[in-house]
Amino acid sequence: MKNKYFKLYACCLISKGFSRSIIIDINRNTFHMIPNSLYEILNNHQGKTVFQINDFYNNKYENIIIEYFEFLEQNDYIFFCSKKELEYFPNIILDYHYPGEISNSILDLSSNSDYNALSAMIQLINLGCRHFQIRFFCDSSLENIESLLNPLEGENISSIEFILKFNGSIPIESYHKILAERPVIQSIILYSAPENKILDLHKSKMGNLILVKQILNDSSHCGAISEHTFANNIKTFSESQTKNTCLNKKVGIDINGEIKNCPSMTKSYGNIKNITVKEAIEKNDFKDVWNIHKDQIEVCKDCEFRHICTDCRVYIQDPNNIYSKPAKCSYNPYTGTWGDENLTNNPLYGQ
Ligand code: SF4
Repeated sequence: MKNKYFKLYACCLISKGFSRSIIIDINRNTFHMIPNSLYEILNNHQGKTVFQINDFYNNKYENIIIEYFEFLEQNDYIFFCSKKELEYFPNIILDYHYPGEISNSILDLSSNSDYNALSAMIQLINLGCRHFQIRFFCDSSLENIESLLNPLEGENISSIEFILKFNGSIPIESYHKILAERPVIQSIILYSAPENKILDLHKSKMGNLILVKQILNDSSHCGAISEHTFANNIKTFSESQTKNTCLNKKVGIDINGEIKNCPSMTKSYGNIKNITVKEAIEKNDFKDVWNIHKDQIEVCKDCEFRHICTDCRVYIQDPNNIYSKPAKCSYNPYTGTWGDENLTNNPLYGQ
């Protein structure tokens, strides 16, 4: 190992925080904490031999550096090769591109909603939207889902997540049946349920039935951040470099049909009953929040998790400062500790 040149596997990405760093493996969908001194070696000395690195540090940390390299090899984060072979292993390009104007949407519905959710979805699909979250803040039936999905058969949709109120008179098997028949449904989350439970249908990311006890009567439950909401993937890592990991290319339609960046926001760009989604997103400042990224946000910019973390611009620590930290995150990157569990317990992902 001493005379060979080391290289991080291209799928292993590193992120430095104030007190520690992480290696993210986007293939295995995992991350590992590492000291900032190891980050420095990975960031500044890739393509060198261990001998050259020890030499750089005047052989002061020889034992620690050997330990670091044993850890990296054992966890398949690096490999060794000849100097010539290094050029065959380029790094992943972290530019973020999406082939559409909108990538994801949230549609809220209540018993008073009188906008046409189906027509809104078709407009969004035509703008490139492939991921939907549909939240019913009222009683709903499986027929509500069927009547929304039947006309969309054959449309180019990658995933739909439904958030529905638990209804004891609907057998759990009926939800399993609709999940099995419609692979486009990524998950159904039933709130106000008697227990917190994940009923994993396919042992994959798709087709989960999730029961949560929390009462979700409106959009205010949004924005909680915890380790369970981290996304160790290339999409989030690359998007986070220059874009907002929650709001970029998102459209939210609230229970009244108001078109917004997120249904929880107050600012509306027009009502879907009066204008099209395209007209709304082309208004002057609709896309401004898309560009607020973690390296600009107070505290987050010093956090090692910033490239796998989601964001929230609605519930923030200082409502007068759009660049302040998400209010529902209790992580302190300066001490490397999580705080108040009530802030971070996202009922949809955290239990
Ligand atoms: S401090 Fe910011 S980047 Fe870090 S976990 Fe919290 S919200 Fe995410």
